[in-house]
Amino acid sequence: MNGISSLPNYINGQWLTSNATEYLDVINPTTAAILARVPLSPASEVHQAAEAAAVAFESWRRTPATERVQYLFKLKNLLEENFADLARTITQECGKTLAESQGEMRRAIENVEIACGIPMMMQGTNLEDIARGIDEIMIRQPLGVVAVICPFNFPGMIPFWFLPYAIATGNTYIVKPSEKVPLTMQKIFKLIEKTGLPKGVINLVNGAKAAVDAILDHPQIKAISFVGSTPVAKYIYSRGAANGKRMQCQGGAKNPIIVLPDADMEMTTKIAADSAFGCAGQRCLAAAIAVTVGEARARFTEAIAEIAKKRVVGNGLEQGVEMGPVITSQSKTRIEQLIQQGVAAGAELLVDGRNPQITGYEQGNFIRPTILQNVSPTGEIARTEIFGPVLSLIHLDSIDEAIALVNSGQYGNMACLFTSSGAAARKFRYEAEAGNIGINIGVAAPMAFFPFSGWKDSFFGDLHGQGNHAVEFFTQTKVVVERWPNNWSRQF
Ligand code: NAD
Repeated sequence: MNGISSLPNYINGQWLTSNATEYLDVINPTTAAILARVPLSPASEVHQAAEAAAVAFESWRRTPATERVQYLFKLKNLLEENFADLARTITQECGKTLAESQGEMRRAIENVEIACGIPMMMQGTNLEDIARGIDEIMIRQPLGVVAVICPFNFPGMIPFWFLPYAIATGNTYIVKPSEKVPLTMQKIFKLIEKTGLPKGVINLVNGAKAAVDAILDHPQIKAISFVGSTPVAKYIYSRGAANGKRMQCQGGAKNPIIVLPDADMEMTTKIAADSAFGCAGQRCLAAAIAVTVGEARARFTEAIAEIAKKRVVGNGLEQGVEMGPVITSQSKTRIEQLIQQGVAAGAELLVDGRNPQITGYEQGNFIRPTILQNVSPTGEIARTEIFGPVLSLIHLDSIDEAIALVNSGQYGNMACLFTSSGAAARKFRYEAEAGNIGINIGVAAPMAFFPFSGWKDSFFGDLHGQGNHAVEFFTQTKVVVERWPNNWSRQF
């Protein structure tokens, strides 16, 4: 239709046109250009992928781990060779700057590299002679068919928190990308195809609710990783778990940073601005609230306002641009409404980034960095995940009050402290209720060899993505106890 291509699914080693009756436009958030049409695949196409993956599993699980990771080595090289193109695609469909997209792809590749160590990481344990002549061993085996359901904000990286570990441990796989940003995975699957991976080992099904529900209900799918908003994470966790599946569901966030008066204020404000406005605030680890303690208030407020006003906003593909648009026009409207709601509730607009004029990109979903001050710690604006370039300032008198505020939140994804006091840093690290802590640094997604996830309503499940947790999540242990009679040779 009008030269706009409809995206295929990749099932059982073949690119297949979906039988979907509904399609969504994939829209460049910078220019509003329609990039492609994505099918809302019906349940039958998830079933087809699950059946193909189940057949492939029988042979894939028997493929030695050392052989399985050879495909990952090939994939790593292909991702490196296509690095620039993949980063560009992320910027086109997601809006972030090219530097941010490159950072995202670097982290994706790092997960492939780490998963190449699976032959060592999935080793079991054993103890000989638990009783005389009897040995007990624990082995790890793959689960079967597993799947990931992805959000829009990291189309290249997030599937890789799970996928390389899942297949290296011997599982077969289904990826359901966000319907808002399906193009990066289309390109990555072209590379997966080039690795020569046996058909059915990794499958791609585009879609939204119908495809997700089919994944949640399919009896062949044994485990599901989800990353997205908290209400959807709760729904997916409960429905998948009720169907007996192993689940790990990462949800939303509302991340606070605390600034003490003894912090290096120049460094702190720069880091706080990067954390709040990087990826236009659409990161689950973005700073959303800055709590200044005591005399930190005046210096921090003045400096962060200056940085926010100077931020270069525009097309992420252009050099010098520091921040792109938010993902959709609906998202822009929602964020602007939340800002207005905060003002109506008594907050002051220190920097108002609404309705900017970005020459040449009048149709883009732009909001400039926005700062609200005197935000009520208990008000809606301090509690709701905005997921845009909006920082709320709250002032308190002591670190104890600040930590109490951090711990009173619904979410627990990330919390940061800026200080030059080791004692304050230790107290914060010890007491703050969050899965990721930053001390004088904004938290980026942890390196691939650390597990990544939040606490409280930022995570539902037990084992997290990446590193050893991924190996645990994608394998089940089997304990074998053995006795071999000494007279075995006489049997033949
Ligand atoms: P989302 O919850 O709207 O969508 C995520 C996925 O769920 C998509 O694939 C979508 O198709 C599917 N989905 C949406 N509604 C559904 C429904 N009713 N039933 C079944 N499936 C449904 O999230 P999003 O807007 O794409 O991503 C942003 C959210 O993700 C933010 O809340 C952000 O904090 C969170 N996030 C969290 C992490 C983390 O590590 N904790 C990382 C990235 C993003």
